[in-house]
Order: sequence, then C-alpha cells, then structure tokens
Amino acid sequence: MVVDSRIPFRRAAALSPVPLGVHAGVWVKDWSPASARFALEGSAAAGFDLVEIPAPAQEGSLSPAGTVTLLDDTGLDAVVSLALDPASDINTTDAATSARGERRLLDAVEFAHAIGAGYVGGVTYSAMTKYDRPATAATRANALAVLERVATVARDADVRLGLEYVNRYESNLLNTAAQTAEFIGELQARGVDNALLHIDTYHANTEELSLADAVHDAGDLLAYLHLSESHRGALGTGSLDWAGLFRALADTGFRGPLTVESFSPAVISAATRDEIGAWRTLWSDPVDLTRSAAAFVREQLTASALLTPID
Ligand code: MN
Repeated sequence: MVVDSRIPFRRAAALSPVPLGVHAGVWVKDWSPASARFALEGSAAAGFDLVEIPAPAQEGSLSPAGTVTLLDDTGLDAVVSLALDPASDINTTDAATSARGERRLLDAVEFAHAIGAGYVGGVTYSAMTKYDRPATAATRANALAVLERVATVARDADVRLGLEYVNRYESNLLNTAAQTAEFIGELQARGVDNALLHIDTYHANTEELSLADAVHDAGDLLAYLHLSESHRGALGTGSLDWAGLFRALADTGFRGPLTVESFSPAVISAATRDEIGAWRTLWSDPVDLTRSAAAFVREQLTASALLTPID
C-alpha cells in the first residue's frame, strides 16, 4: 500500500520548510481559555508553526470554536494528541475498558476535525502505563480492531492517526519503530491507509540501537517526531545523539513536523507529573525553554543540511 505520510495543515503555504511544533504541555497544565491564549501567543512569539494540543476532556476547556479563533489570531496550526490510560485501554480483552478507549480516540478525532487539525497522535494503541505482563495475541488483536474502526472515522474527517511508540515502562505493546511499522502494516492489510508512525526521541533513546536506526526502521511511515531529551529537560543538555538523528532525517528526506516536548513539574498538572514520572524540576520558565529549543532545532537543521539558507 502506498501511504502518504504528510500531515495536512490549514496554513500549509505559510509553514516553515520543516515545520516546528511545540507541545502545549511545555506551556500550560490545561486548556482553559487563559491557558490556551498563553500557550498559543507564546508559541507564535517563539517562532513555532504549530502547537500540539492534548484532546481536552476536562470541564472548563476552551471550546473548539474558541480554539480555532485563537489559532487564527496567532497564525498557528495545530495537531492533537492523547495517551490512553488503564481505564481506557484498547490493548485489553475487557470490553468495557476497550469501549472507553475507543470513545476517547473517537472524541480526539472529532476534536481534531473541529479545530482543523489533520493529525491525532500519541499513545493511541495501548494504555500509557507500566504493565505487569506482556501483551497477548488477544489484547493486540483487540487494539488492531479498535484502531481499524477509529481510522475509518478519522479518514472521513481527513485526520491521520499517529502511533507513538514508548519505552517498556510505559507500554508493553509498541516499544520500537520496527514493531510499530509491523503493527501499522497489519492495519494496512485491513485497508487502513491513514495510520502513521510517530517517533519520540526520549522513548527511542531507551529502546533503539540508535535514533538513526529508529528513523530508518520507520521508513516512509514516519510522519511526526517528538524532540525530547534523554531526561525530558532542555534540548541539547542531555545525552541524546542529536547529530545522528538529524543526519538520518536528512538522509531519508523527512520534512517534519518536529515537535518539542519537554515537561517540568513547574508547569504540568500533578496528574501528568505522576503519569510520566517527572519528579525533578529541570527548568521553570517556558519562555526560556521554548526559545532555546527553537534555536537548538534550527541549528541542528542547518548543520544537517535539512534546512539550507535558501529555504
Ligand atoms: Mn512524546
């Protein structure tokens, strides 16, 4: 199956040659009207093209229409993400739990469509949790069946579905790019053509031979990256092989988006902190963090020739 791994954007013509994104969780702990304005205005000022917005499920979140207005005001694009949890896991044989997960995925697709976003990514295939046993053929088959149905709805909404594999402590189903490509291949065998591969460098660093191997294993399915340091802190201050990553992206002709993801307990909610184990405060000011991250990524793009001066 020939798959188009490019994500559609509302402002495609205005985007950078390699679009640069930032996760809203770098800025804010929720999507209240005030938080949304702070995140989007800050992202625009720091030179980002798009913001990744977690599918809002809470009371008090800014409406989709309000989000569109703010996106228009700030000239930004958006993508949507979510991570299923143990109560909404589709990597299960429990029908009620799986149904809750399917509902959450469909709600995220609906939210994306409502705000003009063409991508829903994240931990969409299992709970993001430390499992106490391996996935089984039956739980894996259930995840495939749910995702086939969700992808069909997403397709009608012109939304791509991203599968972000994570490290072994956060899922037992997809921990490498090769596993994820195989899983997506099984979806394709069922006729799904809008399931794409999402690499997070933090997770890949734990599980892959190298970040470059991850990029090559993902191949043409690679649609989206989270740029996240080995310790989830400021980009360039950890042990990741950024040069190797960007060289591989240049070699494979990847054109983004690249989305900065860094989490600090100074910003995120206590619930998110506990989910991802962000126990230490590695930075406190999202303005400083995003500005240095944008500059760091642009340096890497230039050094790898993924972004040339004539771009
Ligand atoms: Mn991530």
